[in-house]
Amino acid sequence: MAKKLIVANWKMHFTVGEASLYLHKLQEKVANTRKTTEVVLCPNMLTLQSLSLQVDRRKFRLGAQNCYFQDEGAFTGEVSATMLRSLVDYVIIGHSERRHIFNEDNKLIAQKVQAVVRNGLQPILCVGETRQERADGDTAHVLHDQVTAGLSNITSAEINHVVIAYEPVWAIGTGEFDKADDAVQAIRSIRKNVESMFGKKASQEIRVLYGGSVNGDEAGGYLVAEGVDALLIGGASLKADVFAGIVARTHELESV
Ligand code: PEP
Repeated sequence: MAKKLIVANWKMHFTVGEASLYLHKLQEKVANTRKTTEVVLCPNMLTLQSLSLQVDRRKFRLGAQNCYFQDEGAFTGEVSATMLRSLVDYVIIGHSERRHIFNEDNKLIAQKVQAVVRNGLQPILCVGETRQERADGDTAHVLHDQVTAGLSNITSAEINHVVIAYEPVWAIGTGEFDKADDAVQAIRSIRKNVESMFGKKASQEIRVLYGGSVNGDEAGGYLVAEGVDALLIGGASLKADVFAGIVARTHELESV
């Protein structure tokens, strides 16, 4: 069985010094869970280099929060997957903050997903509906469009390198989280979309995470929910005790 995957999105928090102190604290609190659970830390770009020298790779892998789709060139301010190759294993692509604040569309996101895979890294493709889309009953439709577009440049030989994160936009950073049953439903529809593109085996094997205001107490519900391969955590990943607690709970549930 595939390991559970816990991804910490630190967003635009921590200077180089603060990130180093925080990692030091996390490394003391988080046990080595690598038999059951992969734990990925995604700090800001500026801190990746120094954290890559400090991180205990028996406990953590590193990820980036974004990248550009071209490998190099005149793209002021951007960082490519080629540049990230020696530092990270994963890259978050299409996070709702990138889609909504930075206007990233499905075409750009598909190019980024392909660039990450082309560079031998694993994209974590984020998809999810807004509050209005949920209220209008359009969740399955939106997920279909985001999944099919996001994976449109991926081949069947590459699909096993991709992770999908279901993150309802209304649940991110709001303190409101989706009911585990509704998340299961949405994740089932994501797997159906993957099945229609890449076949049943790929749809069963692809790792799909839930993300949206998970802060500890309710994590267990998602960890045992059907088809949920674990969690993408924003705000709560900045609290060492809470984050370490979620990792420990995941390991405990997977060890029985
Ligand atoms: C996220 O940033 O992907 C996220 C899920 O954030 P939060 O846990 O704070 O809702």
